Amino acid sequence: MTSTQDRPGVASAHDIAQMNRDYTMFSWSVQGASTPMVMTGGKGSHFFDGEGKPWLDFSSQLINLNVGHQHPRMLGAIKRQVDTLCFAGPSFATEPRGLLGQKLAEVTGLAKAFFTLGGSEANENAIKMARLVTGRDKIITRYRSYHGATMGSMTASGDPRRWPVEPGIPGVVRVFDPYCYRCPFGKTPDSCGRECVSHIEEIIQMEGPHTIAAILVEGITGSNGLLVPPDDYYPKLRALCDKYDLLLITDEVMSGFGRTGKWVATQHWNILPDIITCAKGLTSGYMPLGAVIVNERVANYFEDHMLWGGLTYSGHPVSCAAGVENLAIYEEEGIFARVDELGAHLAQRLEAMKARYACVGDVRYKGLFSVLELVRDKATKEPLAPFNGTSPEMGLLAGHIKSRQVYAYSRFNFLWVCPPLIITKEELDAGLDVYEEALALVDERLRVGVAAD
Ligand code: PLP
Repeated sequence: MTSTQDRPGVASAHDIAQMNRDYTMFSWSVQGASTPMVMTGGKGSHFFDGEGKPWLDFSSQLINLNVGHQHPRMLGAIKRQVDTLCFAGPSFATEPRGLLGQKLAEVTGLAKAFFTLGGSEANENAIKMARLVTGRDKIITRYRSYHGATMGSMTASGDPRRWPVEPGIPGVVRVFDPYCYRCPFGKTPDSCGRECVSHIEEIIQMEGPHTIAAILVEGITGSNGLLVPPDDYYPKLRALCDKYDLLLITDEVMSGFGRTGKWVATQHWNILPDIITCAKGLTSGYMPLGAVIVNERVANYFEDHMLWGGLTYSGHPVSCAAGVENLAIYEEEGIFARVDELGAHLAQRLEAMKARYACVGDVRYKGLFSVLELVRDKATKEPLAPFNGTSPEMGLLAGHIKSRQVYAYSRFNFLWVCPPLIITKEELDAGLDVYEEALALVDERLRVGVAAD
């Protein structure tokens, strides 16, 4: 966390922030209240702010910058493709598009990829394809889920971000999640009969299996508190889909491409979905790209039926070239083995935090995909902030982490640790030390019972 760099460009940090606020609109923000941080560069696990100060990027931006900032191989591959061919329309065949499709089929075990500009559009197309292939309408999704911000993907999401667009698209039916810490069925690990799967079967029967096209779930739930399912969850869900002839769509936008130490999270449980959607770690965010990766059944259907979809920039050659290089980096730089090793260390530290701090109710992790769930009281599990809300204590926690130039993702009563997969052990420990300082402050505040500012 020592290096700095000269700030490029002509505008001052103040002017950059002002121009952005005056002439652009920010996502998921009340515009008048947005206070964007200026970013001027980056290197590895750090980015640089408007003053050139380094920040440890403990959330890999939006959990997408898997190979870190400004990876030289990514820059080289993008520049080479820009020199060769910047654009080809979506109906043209290009080398990077073919190579990336081939590689995705190899690493996922599925057949073909349809390229999109990001994750929301990938889910949008997956829903559309599932409906076309099965001739049925309904899509089963889970409550604690996020699938994107376009109309269909936002409706498919279960979390409060869908509320403003409701009723959205018709035909979305939601079920409960494998949230073992707060089991929606009141079960404990000892008494559990996998009600989180059996209730899906009941809902399938009540809705009518002949009306349901697919079940759409995140590989591992990301922005709703990182819910790692029990080991037999996916095999049971796969069996349910087979029993009722439903397509299983796994959204690996956040959990895919090494984040958990595998190409996609469901490889931990040895099941094959019918459709995988992905984005983020596909290019590590260097270029916008998503994909709908489909099995033979879905691919064959579209051999003699129209695929009603595609945008001007689908299969963009520069994005596909970034994807090809990014996937090569995962393999050639041994990123997954590194995630396994660092993930084991992270798991140890998180478990130690759970034991040490009263406000840490639960920790959940797979590879470098992890969260701390914060509570006021370990016994009652009362959340440190209400669902869909915040609290002075969460403000205190986030404020302290920010004051130490660590960029962290927190939401409701969750605090994530999702650094770039190229992070060093020293950087990981430095960030976790800052988290511990913040947790100690919260514990102290809870102990003396003083409301934070
Ligand atoms: N699906 C999941 C699981 C996500 O986490 C996200 C974004 O965070 C999306 C879909 C939407 O992807 P995008 O923002 O690329 O449209």
